[in-house]
Amino acid sequence: MHAALESIYERVLSRNPGEVEFHQAVREVLDSIGPAVDKHPEYADARIVERICEPERQIIFRVPWEDDQGGIHINRGFRVEFNSALGPFKGGLRFHPSVLLGTVKFLGFEQVFKNALTGLPIGGGKGGSDFDPRGRSDREVMRFCQSFMLELYRHIGEHTDVPAGDMGVGGRELGYLFGQYKRITNRYESGVLTGKGLSYGGAQVRREATGYGCSFFVEEMLRARGESFEGKDVVVSGSGNVALYTIEKVHQLGGRVVACSDSGGFVHDPKGLDLDLLKDIKEVRRERIAEYTEQRGDATFVPDRSVWEVPCQVALPSATQNELDEDDAAALVRGGCIAVGEGANMPTTSAAVRVLQEAGVSFAPGKAANAGGVAASALEMQQNASRDSWSFEHSENRLREIMVDIHARCHDVAEEYGSPGNYVAGANIAGYSRVAEAMLALGLV
Ligand code: GLU
Repeated sequence: MHAALESIYERVLSRNPGEVEFHQAVREVLDSIGPAVDKHPEYADARIVERICEPERQIIFRVPWEDDQGGIHINRGFRVEFNSALGPFKGGLRFHPSVLLGTVKFLGFEQVFKNALTGLPIGGGKGGSDFDPRGRSDREVMRFCQSFMLELYRHIGEHTDVPAGDMGVGGRELGYLFGQYKRITNRYESGVLTGKGLSYGGAQVRREATGYGCSFFVEEMLRARGESFEGKDVVVSGSGNVALYTIEKVHQLGGRVVACSDSGGFVHDPKGLDLDLLKDIKEVRRERIAEYTEQRGDATFVPDRSVWEVPCQVALPSATQNELDEDDAAALVRGGCIAVGEGANMPTTSAAVRVLQEAGVSFAPGKAANAGGVAASALEMQQNASRDSWSFEHSENRLREIMVDIHARCHDVAEEYGSPGNYVAGANIAGYSRVAEAMLALGLV
């Protein structure tokens, strides 16, 4: 790491004790932006990097709610408003029992660079709660969302901070959140949340956007090395929103997704996963993927093992942070993998990224590869602001253009700064440069 950045990193460590995921995300960025810092000493004079590492505002609140039996539960809510140099804070809400302040900070930090890479006018933020929606009834989820919004509403707004979904927050939760916001504020402010349902201000392709976008990015990355998805075996981890729509698009682009997973294990279907069945299990019935083998005789369910042991040419980790470690990376390399694209946020450990890059695998970091979701959110904001709605086809074309553009920027910037083929360096330098330039222009704020 560049010496000046090393001391900034030390300070991040001591000021944010125990927030290991946040440390990891900061380290990964600071490791790559050295050449950009050297090129622009005026940014260092204005302490841009120190400011980027410190959220503008962090909100932590109590969320009390009542279950169906009348039992009382207390959860913790977060919203970390990280950086608004490029636009209103923008980023999802994650409901998962593992959520801590450090989790939300890592996600918010990543979001700043990701959103900058889209080229759209959005700053970065993230929020969530340690609430576990799994096994909860719709009414319990609704009561939780209403209680969560009863505090959050005062911090957000279409020009201030615009939340969306992330793990555990999908169409159902966003509906309850929007309904409660509308009721409290007496405003039909469509642009305050994105990922809304199509019946009340949502946008075409938002649901599909992260998975589709990741597939488009990886298609470009394959093209850059003279390859395509055609005829390739692909493994996608996870089976949530990102995974399902990645599988859909990869199949359309000529690849064959042979495995996906959830926290209980993985399904291997060598003939290619049956997406209709998966959608029925996950989106309609909200069940575990072990169910898949009940209806597909050729498939196997392997409990408690890593999906990365299934050989493939393309791997798309789309479950959660640090799910793909050094051993998994080595297994992928042995199995003939040539490209890895992160559909989730930081699913690959730093050591695993090194293994992949050293083996010549093209590696797309999440802040570039999964930016399609938030890009489609920015398009939803644009449609809401003009009280318009675009067709599916037009929206998908816009998404594809944006992803092709992000790929080109990461690719070209990596080359310009002396690391050809290194998409991690390209994404971090390109994202940082855009935010830094705006921050300098805005003065000391
Ligand atoms: N949670 C998604 C992400 O990680 C989407 C955020 C948004 O649409 O605002 O980028």
